[in-house]
Amino acid sequence: MSRFLSQRFASIEPYVPGEQPQGRKYIKLNTNESPYPPAPGVLEAINREEVAKLRLYSDPDARPLVAAIARRFGVGEDQVFVGNGSDEVLAFTFLAFGGVEKRFRFPALSYGFYPVFARLLGVTYEAVPLRPDFTIDPADYIGCGTNIVLANPNAPTGYALGLETIGEIARSNPDSVVVIDEAYVDFGGESAAVLLDTYDNLLVVQTFSKSRCLAGMRIGFALGSAELIADLQRMKFSFNPYNLDRLAILAGTAAMEDEAYLNTCTAKICATRRRVTDRLREMGFTVLESKANFVFARRDGIPGGRLFAALREKGILVRHWEDPLIADYLRISIGSDEEMDAFLAAAGQILEEETK
Ligand SMILES: *Cc1c(COP(=O)(O)O)cnc(C)c1O
Repeated sequence: MSRFLSQRFASIEPYVPGEQPQGRKYIKLNTNESPYPPAPGVLEAINREEVAKLRLYSDPDARPLVAAIARRFGVGEDQVFVGNGSDEVLAFTFLAFGGVEKRFRFPALSYGFYPVFARLLGVTYEAVPLRPDFTIDPADYIGCGTNIVLANPNAPTGYALGLETIGEIARSNPDSVVVIDEAYVDFGGESAAVLLDTYDNLLVVQTFSKSRCLAGMRIGFALGSAELIADLQRMKFSFNPYNLDRLAILAGTAAMEDEAYLNTCTAKICATRRRVTDRLREMGFTVLESKANFVFARRDGIPGGRLFAALREKGILVRHWEDPLIADYLRISIGSDEEMDAFLAAAGQILEEETK
């Protein structure tokens, strides 16, 4: 930290992303990326001609991408906001709607970026513990009178709330913004996008990073009332109008238009998740029943940290947190069948060595 850093940022603990090794080849099951390449149309869209056009700024309105998203969800183009990853969309959301008095409430065990955004942007927040079984208690959010952000399905648990509950939370907090972060919705959740006509305080956030196989392209979006979207635009045009680059706009449009490819990828991942969940349970693991592209699991008799390190030794990266509440658990992204077979074999070997 230099002596020049503004005092107000001195105590911020930045978000720590999962490891992105650039050297040794690991089987990467630590940041919930897709094991599959982007839709075929993405490569066609990013061609020599488009690269030549990189000398020009991108379209600040990202028009073709916004149009494709609006078509897919049956909403107006003025109900779509696009950002440089949903992380940026969420940051603009905290910036636009949060403040010292405009609190945000979210589960204490959820996406680790929420408290970081709040602290960076001077937003008061309330992190509400989950129930002991890791489920969200809807009563903590119904009529709570603060802004709310819920990852649905939640991470790292993989548990999802139903639309009835989301609707009740939105209905009972009419003067607050209710943000539903649907990063994992395509793997078994139900999108709250169908509730947008009913609740003008609902903001649905999605990403291209997981189900659409484009984590490296950095595209996320929000759907909401035209008024909420205009507020997000106000943040963006006061900060970085060209937040999506030319290639991202093209890649995102192609990915959004290929619904069949999305369905193929998510179906494969859901089938692999089923198989991995069952196999881990046979091996004595406790595995939460996930609706996301990861599973959250622990094995009696071996601390999460030890299993994490042993898997790493064998070239397999998963995610582990030191927080005592979840220190026994690992979050394991669902990769291809071959990757998961290698993971299961390595886990089996480690357990055998442990119990010798
Ligand atoms: C991955 C993830 C994000 C961030 O996605 P990007 O679009 O890659 O920034 C946001 N929220 C949750 C819950 C996530 O898991």
